[in-house]
Amino acid sequence: MKIGVLALQGAVAEHIRTTELAGAEGIAVKRVEQLHELDGLIIPGGESTTIGKLMRKYGFIEAIRQFSEEGKPIFGTCAGLIVMAKQISGQDDAHLSLMNITVSRNAFGRQRESFETDLEVVGIDEPVRAVFIRAPLIESVGEGVEVLSTYHDEIVTAREGHLLVSSFHPELTDDYRLHQYFVNMVESSLKSLR
Ligand code: GLN
Repeated sequence: MKIGVLALQGAVAEHIRTTELAGAEGIAVKRVEQLHELDGLIIPGGESTTIGKLMRKYGFIEAIRQFSEEGKPIFGTCAGLIVMAKQISGQDDAHLSLMNITVSRNAFGRQRESFETDLEVVGIDEPVRAVFIRAPLIESVGEGVEVLSTYHDEIVTAREGHLLVSSFHPELTDDYRLHQYFVNMVESSLKSLR
């Protein structure tokens, strides 16, 4: 199973490492042509405005939308979550516009720029170690979106069919269970596409 990590900016090597801990092959994706060989895609954290600009510049917007239309799973973390959202609070334009959620950037405030916590996640037995860095939160979810975890009543992990997002960075600890969850999504999509 091949899982790509969009390698335009952000925490790429860490996602490749964690994907491999979860038992799949992780591939850094720099060109749109590479998408054809992938079974799933991760969009990492970093800076969403920069990632969005680079995606436009290199043709990734249309290519990733097409990838999603084929039913192939996509996992966005932090800035990756922001670029997948249909609505970004306070901004007119979104980036990929894939997932039926409204996100708020840098939502945890300056005094809490970064922190770690243990989170209950639907579908995972024990709490997951979560690292938040200038994290966005999901203000609201539309039809078809399942909330998988909250932090102080704010939505921080969600899923809409083959799309998964988290506000936090699951690639920065040795707890690879959210990647394992995504690998399982990719596995079921391969079975249903076969
Ligand atoms: N604050 C960043 C943004 O708005 C996201 C931060 C992150 O990915 N760690 O793009």
